[in-house]
Amino acid sequence: MTERTSESALSNDYSKLSEQARSFLQGEKQLFINGRWRSARRGSTLPVVDPTNGREVARIADAAEEDVDAAVEAARHAFESGPWPKMRPHEREQLMLRLADLIAAEIQPLAEIECVNSGKLIGNTRLFDAELSVHTLRYMAGWATKLHGQTMDLSVPYLPDQRFSGFTRRTPVGVVAGITPWNVPLCQAVWKLAPVLATGCTLVLKPAEQTSLTAIRLAKLCSRVGIPEGVVNVITGRGSVAGVALASHPGVDKISFTGSTNVGRHIAETAAKQLKRVSLELGGKSPVVIAPDADLDIAIPGAAWAIFGNNGQNCCAGSRLYVHTSIFDRVIEGVVKIADEMQLGPGLDPTSMMGPMVSVAHRSRVVQFVSSAVSAGASLLAGGDILPGPGAYLRPTILMGTPSDHDSVQQEIFGPVLNVFRFNDDAEAIRLSNDTRFGLGASIWTSRIATATRYLEAFRAGTVWINTHNILDLSLPFGGLRDSGIGQELGQEGVLSYTQLRAVVMRQ
Ligand code: NAD
Repeated sequence: MTERTSESALSNDYSKLSEQARSFLQGEKQLFINGRWRSARRGSTLPVVDPTNGREVARIADAAEEDVDAAVEAARHAFESGPWPKMRPHEREQLMLRLADLIAAEIQPLAEIECVNSGKLIGNTRLFDAELSVHTLRYMAGWATKLHGQTMDLSVPYLPDQRFSGFTRRTPVGVVAGITPWNVPLCQAVWKLAPVLATGCTLVLKPAEQTSLTAIRLAKLCSRVGIPEGVVNVITGRGSVAGVALASHPGVDKISFTGSTNVGRHIAETAAKQLKRVSLELGGKSPVVIAPDADLDIAIPGAAWAIFGNNGQNCCAGSRLYVHTSIFDRVIEGVVKIADEMQLGPGLDPTSMMGPMVSVAHRSRVVQFVSSAVSAGASLLAGGDILPGPGAYLRPTILMGTPSDHDSVQQEIFGPVLNVFRFNDDAEAIRLSNDTRFGLGASIWTSRIATATRYLEAFRAGTVWINTHNILDLSLPFGGLRDSGIGQELGQEGVLSYTQLRAVVMRQ
C-alpha cells in the first residue's frame, strides 16, 4: 500500500460532488423557525470546516437566546393550537412516510454533504446517516397509529354504591429540545425528529455546531412535505449559548440530549431544577472480550471494526480489548495488521478506509490521551502519529501496557485509539470490563453458549453483543447505564418516552 501524504491526496475533491450538494453548500444557511428561514437576530455566523483540509466550506447562523426564544415559542404554539394537535395518527404517519421518501430521493447529496462536513467516509455517511434516516422515519411512522393505552374496571372501594371505569391514553409530552452531537449528524437528528412526529410532539433541534449542514437540509425537506409550521424548528449555533438557552428554556417539556457525559451532567441538573423530562445518550468506553474458543476469523476483524469504524468517533466504540492469554499474540498481531494497512484519506474517495477526526482541535485532545498513556508506560503497537498537513488525520492507534486506572482506559477518547489487555479467566475479564464509570455497550466473542450467557449477565452495559459489536437496530432500545446516560432511544421504549400517560376515570 502506498501511503497518501500529499495535501491534495488527503483533501476532498469537490469536483466529485453532485450538483445538489454543491449548490446546497454554496447557499445561505439560516435558522428554520415557524416554517420560515431567517438569520440569527444578531446576524452572527459560524464557519463550517472540511476536516480533510481545514477549509471553510459554508457558514451557519450562530443563534443566541432571542432566536431560541422564537423557536421555542413557535414549537409551543404549534403544539397547542393549529393543525398539528388535531391531526390524526394516520395523517402523521403519512407525513413521515413522505418525508422518508424525500430523504430517499436525496441519499447521495445528503451523504456527500455529511462527508464533506464531518470527514467521514462516503460509504458510511450513505449507510449510517442518509439511509438509516429513511429507515428510522419509516419504522417510527408505524408507531404513530400504535400508541395505545389500557382500560380498567375500577373498584373504588370507598364509594361502594357507584361504578367507574378507567382508561389510560398516551399523550405527547409537548415541546422537545433535541440536542445532537457531531459523530452521526443526520441520523441523530432523525432519531430525535421521528419519535417527535410519531407521537405528536413538536421539536426544536440544535445540531452540533461542527456538523449542522444535514440538519438544515432536513428542515428544508420537512417544509416540503407539509409538516405544519412550528412543528419542526432547527436552530444552529454554539452549545454554550444556543444549547444552554434551549435546555434551560421554560417552554421546553422534554430534553432529548445525545452528547458527552460532561454536558449531559449539566443538562441533567437543568432538567432536575425545572422538573423537565430528560433522556441522556452519553459517552462510552465499551469493552470487547475475546474468549479462547472464539472464531478468530470473525473476532479479529470484528475487534478492529469495533474501534476504527466511523473514524473511531463512535459512542459505543470497542476501545478496550481484552484477549485471553492463550490467543493474545495471534489476535493482537491480526488487529495491528489491520490498523497498519488502513488507507487514510478523504471521505469522498471511495478507496479511503479511514478519514480524519472531526477537527484538528478534537484530534489534539485525542493525541494528548495517547502521549499521556505512553508517558505512563504504554507501548505503541500501531499508529500514534498524525499525518502532516492541514487535515485532522490520526493513524489508527493501538496501545499495550497502559495502566488500568489511566485516563486513556477510564475516559472516553472518541478517536481511533485502542487499549489492549490480556486476561487469564472469565472472572478477570468481567471484572476488568466493568471497571469504568461507563456502561453503553460490551461484546463477547465466543463459540460457547455458556460463555456468552455468563458475560451477557455480568456485563454492566445497556447493549451486549455476542460475536459482533456496534450493531444497532431501530426496533431495539438503545441506551446506557451510569455515565453513559439515562433512558433509551429507538424501539418501543424510545418512542414511548415521548409520551405521557393520562389516566381517565368515567362514572358509569
Ligand atoms: P458535546 O456534549 O460536546 O455536544 C453535544 C451537543 O450538545 C452539541 O449540539 C453541542 O452544541 C451541545 N452542547 C454543548 N454544551 C452544551 C450545554 N452546556 N448545554 C446544552 N447543549 C450543549 O458532544 P460532542 O462532542 O458533540 O459529541 C461527542 C459525544 O457524543 C461523545 O461523548 C459520544 O460518546 C456522544 N454520543 C453518544 C451517543 C449515544 O447514543 N450514547 C451517540 C453519539 C454520540
